[in-house]
Amino acid sequence: MEIFKEMAKHGHEQLIFNFDHTTGLKAIIAIHNTTLGPALGGCRMLPYVSEEQAIEDALRLSEGMTYKAAAAGLDFGGGKAVIIGDPANDKSEALFRAFGRFLDTLGGRYLVGEDVGTNEQDLLHCAKETSYIVGLPEAYGGSGDTGDMTAVGVIAAIQAALTYRFGTPSLKGRRIAIQGLGKVGYQLARHAHDEGADVVAADINPHVVGKAASELHIEPADPWTILETHCDILAPCALGNVVNHETIDKLDCQIIAGSANNQLEDVSMGELLRERGILYAPDFITNAGGLIQVANELTGYREDRVRHQVENIYELLLSVFQRADEDQRSTVSVAMEMVEERINMLHNIHRIFAEHYSK
Ligand code: NAD
Repeated sequence: MEIFKEMAKHGHEQLIFNFDHTTGLKAIIAIHNTTLGPALGGCRMLPYVSEEQAIEDALRLSEGMTYKAAAAGLDFGGGKAVIIGDPANDKSEALFRAFGRFLDTLGGRYLVGEDVGTNEQDLLHCAKETSYIVGLPEAYGGSGDTGDMTAVGVIAAIQAALTYRFGTPSLKGRRIAIQGLGKVGYQLARHAHDEGADVVAADINPHVVGKAASELHIEPADPWTILETHCDILAPCALGNVVNHETIDKLDCQIIAGSANNQLEDVSMGELLRERGILYAPDFITNAGGLIQVANELTGYREDRVRHQVENIYELLLSVFQRADEDQRSTVSVAMEMVEERINMLHNIHRIFAEHYSK
């Protein structure tokens, strides 16, 4: 792998390798773009099969965070950390404190939260060494779990898509198929049920499906065929890469709006969805609720302000859908272009020196 070539390909700013001799910590921090503000993004821990795979993941995920923050109107850039290791066996207080100390050396240029393979406890260990952390439990000064706020954003996205497609945001009587009943999917099922939707859902964990069936009266579905369910709205809330060359012809929905990151195999899938008449709410706009919540911890947390920003997802998506129709392009390419316009515009404004000068 030619690292600088990879960084140049998508405009990354910085890639930082952290190694701690005592604990064996191997952590990589990728900072994609800080035009709008300090980089913000979670820390993932996975037993990557190679260092190359870990670097690729950090680069790809940090770029995604730039788009997500900029689309949400936040003044943060994109960053991501990955720790090479098995979350089931390799975690310790010392490992995360060592990671926290490295994080602290960046002076707030990158702020970290939870991601796949890391949890609150890991962040609490980091927090003993640095304050550049978001998403801590409420008892420790954070805003707590983000699943519900992310689901609130997904509902706003669904309402925007329903308005655009059917002329009304109402979910009443609409059939929604949810893949994954985890922290986001379960709350989404609850909100959709409260709004009068007909909810069909699947999870590989039968326990949560049973719970949702008895609490929310969802119709249980097979996790392996949920994507093919006949429905108005398909909400992927488990894995990425669900819209790919194999699945695209089997989809039987009008709208796709869910929380999963990187739902499309690649950007060309957006065009194929448009050709099939499926309205796609780009994931990095739809699932920004959690990011909006934790970003607000850094500016003095207020739930009413968070909700207001999350509800803006509705208006933002309406403008994406409209421009995509006018330009006869996919919603995802329009959304990416709108984000790039915002970053470039603010970059030009920032050229004026406006700091306090001190000798
Ligand atoms: P989670 O781990 O709590 O839930 C995921 C659920 O999906 C689990 O219940 C799991 O059993 C289920 N699952 C896994 N594979 C499946 C399959 N093949 N079919 C059906 N179900 C399957 O995760 P989460 O926090 O709810 O996040 C869900 C998705 O949304 C992830 O892609 C995540 O990256 C994304 N996301 C989450 C947040 C957030 O605030 N939690 C924010 C933005 C994006």
